[in-house]
Amino acid sequence: MQTVPEYFGSLVFDDRVMKASLSSKVYTSLRKTIDEGAGLDLSVANAVAIAMKDWAVANGATHYTHWFQPLTGITAEKHDSFISPSPDGGVIMEFSGKELIKGEPDASSFPSGGLRATFEARGYTAWDPTSYAFIKDNTLCIPTAFCSYSGHALDKKTPLLRSMEALNRQAMRILRLFGNTTVKCVRTSVGPEQEYFLVDREMYEKRKDLMFTGRTLFGANPPKGQEMDDHYFGVIKPRVAKFMAELNEELWKLGVLAKTEHNEVAPAQHELAPIYTTTNIAADHNQLTMEIMQKVALRNGLVCLLHEKPFAGVNGSGKHNNWSIATDTGVNLLSPGETPYENAQFLIFLCAVIKAVDDYQDLLRISVATAGNDHRLGANEAPPAVVSIFLGDELTAILEAIENGTPYNGTEKKTMMLGVDVLPNFARDTTDRNRTSPFAFTGNKFEFRMLGSSNSISCANIMLNSAVAESLKIYADRLEKADDFKTALHQMIRKTIKDHKRILFNGNGYDDEWIKEAEKRGLLNYRTTPDCIPHILDEKNVKMLTSHNIFTEAEIRSRYEITLDNYCKSVVIEAKTMADMARKQILPAIEKYAASLAETAGAKKALCSEISCAYETKLVSKLALLADGIAMKTDDLEAEIIRIGDIESVEEKGYAIRDKLLNKMSELRGIADEAESVTAEEFWPFPTYGELLFGVR
Ligand code: ADP
Ligand code: MG
Repeated sequence: MQTVPEYFGSLVFDDRVMKASLSSKVYTSLRKTIDEGAGLDLSVANAVAIAMKDWAVANGATHYTHWFQPLTGITAEKHDSFISPSPDGGVIMEFSGKELIKGEPDASSFPSGGLRATFEARGYTAWDPTSYAFIKDNTLCIPTAFCSYSGHALDKKTPLLRSMEALNRQAMRILRLFGNTTVKCVRTSVGPEQEYFLVDREMYEKRKDLMFTGRTLFGANPPKGQEMDDHYFGVIKPRVAKFMAELNEELWKLGVLAKTEHNEVAPAQHELAPIYTTTNIAADHNQLTMEIMQKVALRNGLVCLLHEKPFAGVNGSGKHNNWSIATDTGVNLLSPGETPYENAQFLIFLCAVIKAVDDYQDLLRISVATAGNDHRLGANEAPPAVVSIFLGDELTAILEAIENGTPYNGTEKKTMMLGVDVLPNFARDTTDRNRTSPFAFTGNKFEFRMLGSSNSISCANIMLNSAVAESLKIYADRLEKADDFKTALHQMIRKTIKDHKRILFNGNGYDDEWIKEAEKRGLLNYRTTPDCIPHILDEKNVKMLTSHNIFTEAEIRSRYEITLDNYCKSVVIEAKTMADMARKQILPAIEKYAASLAETAGAKKALCSEISCAYETKLVSKLALLADGIAMKTDDLEAEIIRIGDIESVEEKGYAIRDKLLNKMSELRGIADEAESVTAEEFWPFPTYGELLFGVR
């Protein structure tokens, strides 16, 4: 058996394979493209393509695909085989530089939000050489960006790469101001912690709600939920352990640095965290991780649920985006250093993040907005929909001292002149205690905790990188013109703290008092997707995003359309599924149970007319009442679905769903769940919460 180091990355065309299979000239030129974004000429691309194909074929691949991330939120691939006919009637395996660099899939069936008129159905995919190609299911997958023919981004990778470039541009200006001439580029890194549920496949297949929507739409609370806190970090059950072992093996072969695994708070809930890596690679790897999780689960008779809220009454699933900025020389710019110079540099990057999060709270909220995530944010289990930053007491005290020009009450008790004095040491472990903050500083990185488990991490990082690039740009514009750099720097940091301290909050984010306090501070609270999405079109947001070339105005509008449309479609599918289950499964089950009770009562009476049959009579009338209620609420729901279908604008549709449809759904669920709790188990038409949550051993 091979050891992990022996098979790690065995399905990846990584640096080791490149070095071994490319001439040194081709290798050097490709490395220049990967590391510095230098252009790539066709002769190099041809040589790379041949080496890639030979390696892939030797490893069992028959096909290749440009692997991309359209706005559906999942990945897309169209396979072409390498075969090319040879004159003797056989075939040879071929792959050219042109095929490596560019693909032309028919784009007409991918969401474009009006960007691509159907007569212009062509789109193209362009190779992202910074993310290694890999083999999946005998297919060589080439990570690519996806654009319309007119050059508009139709995917999540293109703006992510643009945002990384924008941040790089601005951060480099700041580093040069600090006299740093050696750093060549600055990159962000991300380690996304992925939560998920595992349920038994047979039970899953008996529930239309799980099959069609990924979450349960009905289900009475079981006698036991998560109240004992006995699942978190608990012993991993054998079936789950087998799943995790196979998952790790597959991910390791694909070069994904799967590192930490454990049980989460809710029963049947688990987490996987990889070691952090460059953001666009982390995004590709997270997409792969979600895909492989589902595949390995199925193979083990399980289903992996990535929905944000598969079950009411227990925690939903999120994804924590651990984010930092580092230079190509390995310096983490969010890590406070040992010298005054490093500390001042740390503070300016820290301030840039504080300013960015405050100025673009709305964009961060928007970046995680989906119908599924609306169930989590603000539900006392995940951070609230209000964005705020946790810095920890010590760092907050240091910032306060800088703001007020007062001595910091640390060990040394002196006022600090930035760039001259050393920052007082603050203990790192004090920064990690708050688990309720949406955006927490954890020693040398920020943890953005609002992402939903099924979100692509690209969206959050696009907004985060862009907003921080904007802060840095404003700083650099000012500092480059300053006569006295140190004084200007000091003033700017003080001003940032003064202007943006409202976004800092170290308390309990789950507390209702905080929401009131946040409102007083003027922080935004967009509770739902329809509340926040329209604000992507606000002038300040469009201006910032277009000025850094992250999106064109048309691209922003298309994303606005697609996100709202997606929200509407998801909820309407849920509503239709509920109506279907109520009519075809729940009502017939109740009728059947009532009939059986009536039959029993009849039999008892026939045996002895003195028997009262009070139990059956009472229960049958209760069931009859509940059935009437369910039928009525289903009628209401169906009428609402029709009304919503007639609304033209996605924004109006979104509001109607938020204000009306969701209420109708929860009314229907309320009665149906009550009916479940009084119906004999053998009559209930699908597996219950108890079976789903505790069924995997
Ligand atoms: P916890 O659950 O305590 O928050 P985990 O170990 O589950 O911690 O996840 C922490 C994540 O943060 C990991 O993916 C880790 O690789 C990542 N991480 C650690 N340091 C950095 C950093 N400097 N930049 C980005 N991510 C980081
Ligand atoms: Mg974790």
